[in-house]
Order: sequence, then C-alpha cells, then structure tokens
Amino acid sequence: MADAKTNAKTDKFQFVREELDRLKEVGLYNTVRTISSPQGAWIVCDGKKVVNMCSNNYLGFANDPRLVKAAREILDKYGIGPGAVRSIAGTMDFHNELEKMLAEFKGSEATLSVQSGLVANQAVIPSILDSAEDAVFTDQLNHASIIDGVRLTKAKRFIYEHSNTTELKKVLEEGKGARRKMIITDGVFSMDGDIAPLPEICDLADEYGAIVMVDDAHGEGVIGKGGRGIADHFGVHGRCDIEVGTLSKAFGVMGGFISGRADLIDYLKQKARPFLFSSAATPPDVAACMAAVHILQTDETPVKKLWENGRYFKGKMKELGFDIGVSETPITPVMLGEAPVAQKFSKRLFEEDVFAMSIGFPTVPRGKARIRVMISAAHETKDLDFALEKFEKIGKELGVI
Ligand code: PMP
Repeated sequence: MADAKTNAKTDKFQFVREELDRLKEVGLYNTVRTISSPQGAWIVCDGKKVVNMCSNNYLGFANDPRLVKAAREILDKYGIGPGAVRSIAGTMDFHNELEKMLAEFKGSEATLSVQSGLVANQAVIPSILDSAEDAVFTDQLNHASIIDGVRLTKAKRFIYEHSNTTELKKVLEEGKGARRKMIITDGVFSMDGDIAPLPEICDLADEYGAIVMVDDAHGEGVIGKGGRGIADHFGVHGRCDIEVGTLSKAFGVMGGFISGRADLIDYLKQKARPFLFSSAATPPDVAACMAAVHILQTDETPVKKLWENGRYFKGKMKELGFDIGVSETPITPVMLGEAPVAQKFSKRLFEEDVFAMSIGFPTVPRGKARIRVMISAAHETKDLDFALEKFEKIGKELGVI
C-alpha cells in the first residue's frame, strides 16, 4: 500500500522534463519566435523588424490585398464556419467551386480539398493501401506527413535511397507480388530544394503496374508553367496518377488538395477519413484560395519574380563561397554541418535583423545542419542585398567562408 502511495506521488511527467532538458543540452530545443505583423518581406518578429527568409509564402500571397478582399467579401455572404463535416452536413458551394478551379489549374479531371497538406497525405495513402497485401515504395527523404500517412497503412514498406531510381527498381522487383503498389515521392524536397526524377519514376511505375503519387507541396505555384506543379514541369500529365498539394505555401492560405482521375476523387470522398470525419475549411480560407488560383491562372508575374529572386540570391551566395547544396528551385539551403554552428549562425543573423532559421536533426540528417533560406516574390532586390551583406559578415565571423 505504502509503495502504491509513493508511486502515485511521483511525477507522471518526469519524462517530459527529462526530454526537454536533453533537447536543450544537445542544441535541438526549438524556441518558436512570435510574429506580430502581416507576412511579407519584412516582419516584426519577437518585437523587432527583420527581413523574413523563413516563410513558405513563395509568391507573397499571404497578405495579398486581393486574397484579403475575397475573404472579407465571403464573410459577409456566408459567415465564418463550415458547420460540420461535408459528407454529413452538406458541402458548401464554394468548396466545390474551389475544387473545380484547382482541377482546371492542374489540368486534372478532379480534385478534393481537405484541411491541410498534412491531412491530404493521410486522406490518400491509407485509402488506397488498405491491406497488408499492398506495398508502398517511398523515398528516404519524404516529408513527415507522407511517413505518417504510410504509418496508417498495413502495407509492406520499401524505403528507397533518395531519388535513386536504380534502388527504386530493386525494391519494386522485391515487392512486385503485392496486390496494390504505390510509389510515393515529394515533388520538390523541401530541405534541399531538389526535384524528384518523376519521368523515370513514371517509367518504372508503368513497368511494375504501380500507382504514382507525388506530394508537390513545394512545387505547386513554383514549378511548371505558371506554377502548375511537377507534372507540368516534366510534361507527365496523366502518367503521374495522384498529385497532393498544399494551399498554405505558394497559395498563401491554408488547406490541402488531392488531384487526379475523377473516379479516384469520387472514391476518396467515400473513403478518406479526413473528409469523412473532420470539418471542412472555413469560407474565408476557401475564398482566399480561390483568389490565389485565379491570380495564378491569369498572371505569371509572381512566379517569374520568385525565380528571378531565387537565381539572384543563389548566384550571390555561391560567389561569396557558401555551400548551397543541390537546390534546383528558389529554396536555398546554406549547408553548415553541425547543429550548433547552424544555430549560432541563425542567432547572429537575427541580431543583424535577418530571420532565417537553422534546421538540424531530426528534420535533416545528422551532420547536415543548415540554414534554409526561403526566397519569396515578396522580396525586393534591396531586401536580398541586405540579407546577403549579413550572410557575408557572419559567414566570415564564424569562419564558414
Ligand atoms: N508535404 C510537404 C512536402 C510539406 O513540406 C508540408 C509542409 N511543411 C506539408 C506536406 C504539409 O502541408 P501543410 O502545412 O499544408 O499541412
């Protein structure tokens, strides 16, 4: 009895404090900064004005007046809440309208919108791979939300070396007896900015009768004609079976979507748990997303500006002598090796009015810590020059260049 009483008094959450202490000790404790201004090239962050090089606001849409206006207008017409889950309480017309616009933009038969990009992966993967007889072939560096989607299945897992199609072929051969087979890859890999070899993946999928799914969260609004994404970039429309996208990055708002054949989207409306068991996006979110798609469909300027900015910044960083990895997109990883160096660099940048976060293990492999610079169309050349000057100063100070 006495023992039970003593046990009851011990802190059940001791493990929490121990883990927090450990994270701090190894330099992996993440302190989230607070932003008290709209998103943009410059933001007020922890009380000071800094140039923003962290956000996924690729096209500057997060505070675009046209999106804000659309959100305001729909508030007056429809109010704030979606009521409930679409399959139970009825879908609102604007959800359907957004899906139609997205399908048109993507050049696909249909799309399904869900609450986020993370949720989109949970909607698709377990709905398709719903038996232990199925197999999934997934890139080693795929995003956490793909990994979680895969964890929701009983499918046999084959993890192949990053973007290595020889390795992919090997595992496809190993798993070729499976009932359903699905290859999953990020489109643009968010930590390195490289692009998946989608045409080769589609060739292998044809050979082995596998479904191809690509999570193009960082490619939507960025690559392809006018930002139409990876299938458009490689011209593999109709060969890439499923494209997952997010509305929270280039589109500037919130939400996710799945794009593909009409019968597949219909199937997901019957099966996908985030669609069946979680409420829909709010009217202002959806209206703002529609405004974003409309801009993308009619004006290529923001996408062009993003790429011009990316080329300019990357070129100058290389000239300065930084290792900026293998990026093929405006994402600019500044490779610094060990996590403490990256953290120190980021801290010094912030002191010099540049907000660029360090990223270490487990988000990237050990020894590959970096500062990931996210370029945006919202940046003006003078903003990039300001950041470059600070990168040079601190790079020299810390002996990185
Ligand atoms: N997939 C990838 C590849 C991502 O990078 C992200 C966002 N970091 C997501 C999915 C999740 O998107 P969301 O923020 O819309 O949930």
